[in-house]
Amino acid sequence: MIDYAICGTRNSNIGLPKGREILAEGGTALDAVEESIKLIENNPYDISVGFNGFPNLLGIVELDASIMEGKTLKAGAVAAVKNYRHPISIARNVMEITPHVMLAGEGAEKFAKAIGFQEEEIIDELGIKNYKNVMEGKSLELPLEAENLIRELFMNFDKHLKEVMNKYPIKEWYKKLSFDKHGTTNVIALDKDGNMAVGVSTSGIAMKFPGRVGDSPIPGAGIYCNNVAGSACTGTGEIAIRLSLARMVVHRIENNMTPEHSAEIGILDVIKLNEDGVIHILTMDKQGNSAGVTNKDGLFYYHTDSTTEKITKRSSTYIEKK
Ligand code: ASP
Repeated sequence: MIDYAICGTRNSNIGLPKGREILAEGGTALDAVEESIKLIENNPYDISVGFNGFPNLLGIVELDASIMEGKTLKAGAVAAVKNYRHPISIARNVMEITPHVMLAGEGAEKFAKAIGFQEEEIIDELGIKNYKNVMEGKSLELPLEAENLIRELFMNFDKHLKEVMNKYPIKEWYKKLSFDKHGTTNVIALDKDGNMAVGVSTSGIAMKFPGRVGDSPIPGAGIYCNNVAGSACTGTGEIAIRLSLARMVVHRIENNMTPEHSAEIGILDVIKLNEDGVIHILTMDKQGNSAGVTNKDGLFYYHTDSTTEKITKRSSTYIEKK
């Protein structure tokens, strides 16, 4: 019989020990999720979450995050937040002290400042180097003229954007700029009282269009939690939004499907859309059964619970496009 459980994607093994400690001491799923994610947001080597998250097209880091509590269906989210290291904590405050679910951009930043969060630079030389490597170094395999224009975008965005968009389809060059440079941390926790919570934090898709918001802060798309199960997504956020992916996974578990099977159906829906893009679904029910399912080979997640001392790395089920 499991007393508590916690699982997470990506570099969540950095945060899960703390979450586990909180749960073992009888703390809440919400605290376990938030504190785990804060440690991941602090990691400067994780290029798609929190500090040193990959910047947008203009070299500015914009973060999305959300948190949701199962027993109350309360949710809090922030989108496109700049200059704050812990969007997950701002999201939790949106949930707990405002009448809203989501704050975006400048409004979210003003809110964070008002409640005492520290404004700071959230990119250092390493993050800037990663950005410059993409902007200046790597060939995008586009006509040279297009490559040069794209690199100049950040110097005079309005002028060059119009020029580039007039000459080359934005969908094509955008895909090349962002290819494979993205990721999100998802953490799902079950506490000793049987309550669940889910948290999600990301810098989104690398080189994203300024103001682009993915699935991560959108309840139903990149995150969902009720008193039966929790679910969260990583990957191409646009796909998760279009399929209401996280909500659908939880809905099927409510109807007695196993987490694994429900997430598999979610990935089959992704494959049916027939779009380029990767999705990983992480889900866990209130018995502590977790599953990771994806359309990309080689992905994994971490899980630990009250029956073991270890944090186990589990291979996610890969469903291949036929
Ligand atoms: N889902 C995130 C987004 O679209 C990115 C990722 O998880 O790779 O913003």
